[in-house]
Amino acid sequence: MEIQDIKTQLSITVVLVHYYLTTDRSDRLCCPWHNDKTPSLQIYPKTNTWTCFSSSCNAGSGDQIDFIMKMENCTKHEAIMKAKDLIGREIINKKTNSLKTDYNQLFSQFKRNIKSEKVKQYLDSRNLNHKQIEIGYNANTWSYLKHCIIFPLRNPTNEIVSFYGRSIYDKENAKHFYLKNRSGLYPSYPKEETKTLILTEAIVDAASLLQLNLEMEVLAMYGTNGLTEEHTEAVSQLKYLEEIIFFMDGDEPGRKAIEKWTPVIKELQPKVKISYVATPEGEDVNSLSKSHESDIFTHLLGNRIEIQTAQQDLFSSSESSIEKRKVAENGRFVKQQSDFDSSNQRTYTTKARQQNIISKEESRMD
Ligand SMILES: [Zn+2]
Repeated sequence: MEIQDIKTQLSITVVLVHYYLTTDRSDRLCCPWHNDKTPSLQIYPKTNTWTCFSSSCNAGSGDQIDFIMKMENCTKHEAIMKAKDLIGREIINKKTNSLKTDYNQLFSQFKRNIKSEKVKQYLDSRNLNHKQIEIGYNANTWSYLKHCIIFPLRNPTNEIVSFYGRSIYDKENAKHFYLKNRSGLYPSYPKEETKTLILTEAIVDAASLLQLNLEMEVLAMYGTNGLTEEHTEAVSQLKYLEEIIFFMDGDEPGRKAIEKWTPVIKELQPKVKISYVATPEGEDVNSLSKSHESDIFTHLLGNRIEIQTAQQDLFSSSESSIEKRKVAENGRFVKQQSDFDSSNQRTYTTKARQQNIISKEESRMD
């Protein structure tokens, strides 16, 4: 195939789609080669060429092959090979009529973007390490989840099927982003041989725990209400499961979530022990990982509290209760009263007595 043949057969639009780039109505988009806030890259579909009009950019103009060269940072020869490959795939796509997003390919692109200074600063502020956990970054190469740290969500066969995006601008009510077709679990479906499973309230919390290399599996809920069908399905499949540990935020919604989901888990896995970590008030897993050495997690997990659901009481309509199981191990722990309101009076009432909570003042580990 001659270069001229390639140029007539491969439209610039197919190249853009391949890199998950979309143009606006005037065939413009944000230039992927400079920090572009207004769409400066003009696409000319008729001639299959493009020009970046920003004075702060040296991308200039080019055709489909130049576009690929710049995107892949490769030689002209490699770009031509890639172009041939795209033509081949386009033919298959037209035959099967499938233009499915290739999340795996997209994610490998996001992983390459993680090195920017702005992203590093954000990750440092969250105590997240891209060398220890699988994350990527999307500035504006993809038209969804812009300026987000990207966490892959995986299906039961461990393929990436969707993403969660956490905005690095971290605005109070606009930091969590899911795709419309959210599916899959983070970091993955728990391994078949899982014995102990920690459930966290958020993906960032799960990521923080993963960095500790605990000998426990971790699974993120999607917020306090985010125990989805996929979660319950995954949990019910675990044949060797012995214990589920809730590690929610140290606040009212976090405690309510434990209360809400305990009977659900109990029904899925009646023989499994259910416990929770007494997260210090106002803290969550990620905030603790920022302010403390990792041994705080050893302490908190070691002092987790078993939830007694007292199945035998269900028929006598008496209360079942959450009781503390472990006694404080050293002077840093203070006793504090903390009652759980029950919203499920008929079958399930919980009460935490003398829950051990590490107060902010006393939990500093110098
Ligand atoms: Zn540019």
